[in-house]
Amino acid sequence: MRNSATLHAVITGGGSGIGAAIAAQLAGDGYRLTLLGRRLEPLQAVADQLPETIAVSCDVTDPESVAAAFALARDQHGAVDALVNCAGAAPTAPFHKLDYAAWRGVFNLNVDGVFHCTQAVIDEMRSRNSGRIINIASTAAQRGYAYVSAYSAAKHAVLGLTRSLALELAGSDITVNAVCPGYIDTAIIREAIDNIVAKTGRSDADALKTFTATNPQGRLIQPDEVAATVSWLCRSAARSVTGQAISVSGGEVM
Ligand code: NDP
Repeated sequence: MRNSATLHAVITGGGSGIGAAIAAQLAGDGYRLTLLGRRLEPLQAVADQLPETIAVSCDVTDPESVAAAFALARDQHGAVDALVNCAGAAPTAPFHKLDYAAWRGVFNLNVDGVFHCTQAVIDEMRSRNSGRIINIASTAAQRGYAYVSAYSAAKHAVLGLTRSLALELAGSDITVNAVCPGYIDTAIIREAIDNIVAKTGRSDADALKTFTATNPQGRLIQPDEVAATVSWLCRSAARSVTGQAISVSGGEVM
């Protein structure tokens, strides 16, 4: 039985947006936390609000940085029981203007980052026969969107990894799942709305529709809704849920 009071979760991208909401949720569930990201300041600001939480600077695209960060995490909090791969970014560009360096950059962060961090925990989870790996993908892992072809391809790759790894580990109490949010009410989306208003003169409400139109519920989703899904997947009661793409999108994908 997994008892969260004694468990350790590592959250990449834990210093902002969805990752920070997941940190608050899992801290409330009783986890000891390690938050990873490149900038220490936002990570520390989140960690300062939570019990038994450390902030560790780490670039998930750099295997040496990942190895050092996970060594520090284990020194402080012991073996990793849950890994939440949340670090990611979605630059926009029409495909015909996308150069190869930009394409590779999107894959380095969104796919290779998940690879490096998962490699960093997999032997330990296999030897303990227990663990939770949760990849924050996107509805862009489940369908296409114009102007984010690299991001959508990368998130589809994360989903492929999730499904295959879940099968490899199905003989253990290690589950691997993807959470696939639609547009979330984060600072980035609010800035994008401000940009649309500034550039086009459209009203706030009209600009908001750019991001709510694809959601049948017609709203932005709150970060804590994603966090609650992660919390559920971490529980012992969710041990039969593996290899899934769980869409947190108001019914956009079904
Ligand atoms: P944020 O930009 O707030 O969070 C991204 C986090 O990733 C930051 O804390 C950033 O910290 C970290 N990060 C970026 N690059 C690296 C790196 N190389 N190494 C380590 N950490 C890194 O975005 P969101 O909270 O919105 O996004 C979180 C995840 O959710 C992403 O994977 C995104 O694709 C996904 N998502 C978001 C949606 C949305 O509407 N917001 C919808 C669907 C999915 P730092 O810069 O300090 O490294």
